[in-house]
Amino acid sequence: MGHTGTGPHGSSNDSELLNTYRWHETCAWCSEPTGRAGEDSIYIDDIGPWCEECYHKVRNAIDNTKTIELNNTITTLRKLCDESLEVIADIIDNWMPVTDKVKHLRQQLEELPHG
Ligand SMILES: [Zn+2]
Repeated sequence: MGHTGTGPHGSSNDSELLNTYRWHETCAWCSEPTGRAGEDSIYIDDIGPWCEECYHKVRNAIDNTKTIELNNTITTLRKLCDESLEVIADIIDNWMPVTDKVKHLRQQLEELPHG
């Protein structure tokens, strides 16, 4: 009685079959066998499967992307803040002389001879 090729050793044993899948599941990034299968497989959202090494790389890359986005947001906010401060500084710079001039004018008016 001959084997019909149900597994690498001609066995249909479930764990051996799973081992075969583990060997056949390759990483989406490096194409190396992930050594995982089924519920063991590593996915990020619906993307994968990943070997452990690539999973950590991808995970870090995603985290870095989030950090970069966050940094960009902070930079933008800081820039807006700086611009507002500049506008306020401008207003103060331009207002002070005006009020001084007004004071000076009023003083001159008060010093004018009345009558
Ligand atoms: Zn990989």
